[in-house]
Amino acid sequence: MTEDKKRLRLSDLQRGKEQERGIACRRCGCRHFRVVYTRQATGGRILRRRECRHCGKRISTYESQN
Ligand SMILES: [Zn+2]
Repeated sequence: MTEDKKRLRLSDLQRGKEQERGIACRRCGCRHFRVVYTRQATGGRILRRRECRHCGKRISTYESQN
């Protein structure tokens, strides 16, 4: 548990750099997400709504289309 929390802090610091690969659940630190839905967002970005496979917490991410 303590290990997981430490890793979560680290991933928070790296978030800006690794937006896609570095995401981790804020609640449990799990990195496995299921995509609930995907849609086009403004500025040519893609919004993905994700759900943690472990605890079910939902987060959204924006991805730029390159
Ligand atoms: Zn979780």
